[in-house]
Amino acid sequence: MLDPDFRVAAMTGAGVSAESGIATFRGLGGHWENARPEELATPQAFAADHLKVWRFYEARRVQCANCSPNPAHLGLARLEEALCDRFTLITQNVDGLHAMAGSRRILELHGNIWRVRCLECGEEVEDRTAPFPELPPMCGCGGMLRPAVVWFGESLPGEIFESAFQEAAASSIFLVAGTSAVVEPAAGLARIAASHGAKVWEVNPEETPLSYICEKTWRAPAGEVMDEVVDLILSKCQD
Ligand code: NAD
Repeated sequence: MLDPDFRVAAMTGAGVSAESGIATFRGLGGHWENARPEELATPQAFAADHLKVWRFYEARRVQCANCSPNPAHLGLARLEEALCDRFTLITQNVDGLHAMAGSRRILELHGNIWRVRCLECGEEVEDRTAPFPELPPMCGCGGMLRPAVVWFGESLPGEIFESAFQEAAASSIFLVAGTSAVVEPAAGLARIAASHGAKVWEVNPEETPLSYICEKTWRAPAGEVMDEVVDLILSKCQD
């Protein structure tokens, strides 16, 4: 029987999608080896050259459209299926692959690349056109659309971050997978979990600033070990 107080939260980053063929921001092969974030992922960059920013996002949308979930996404969806509302997935990823794998309770801290928001009327909708017939894409009201992702220097969606904070604080195990843990406030969620008594587990081929608080660590690609991690979590949640 499931222990009623047992809760799990998992926070994922770009590394979880690496094995689906989507480049990470940092580390080997990351986007940021060739492009600086302050040139592409900021409101200032968009105001200065919206076409340059849209071309970057268009390329990422086209790339994501041709990718599928890997065993790391599928393992986390299996964990949700087993734990139901005792599991919450918090992701910094914007690619939509967790939902495609079957995850339902997803807190998207940094938005979603498949959503666009109008700079004039503020309406936000899902739009999976990739590529767009013309850049920049325009809203029906005549305003310019922007990707509905959180750029550097912008605030995280307040309600979503608040929910992530609550889930981190309530978790018995807080799993961190595929994040370099340098982007705040997302990285701080693991520390919040630890300070409320959670065991922090990490899946990442490389050491991160969170590694020192982790009780367990898998130094391996997420797709290769996620099933093992999920099985271990499920073995811990029995009464
Ligand atoms: P990051 O690029 O900073 O770090 C990626 C991390 O993943 C590194 O620590 C690396 O060692 C690790 N990694 C690489 N391959 C891995 C694998 N196979 N399995 C497990 N870990 C692996 O990514 P981040 O920490 O998510 O950075 C935060 C920002 O990057 C966020 O704003 C996020 O929105 C954005 N981002 C998202 C995507 C996406 O949606 N797929 C892609 C790139 C960047």
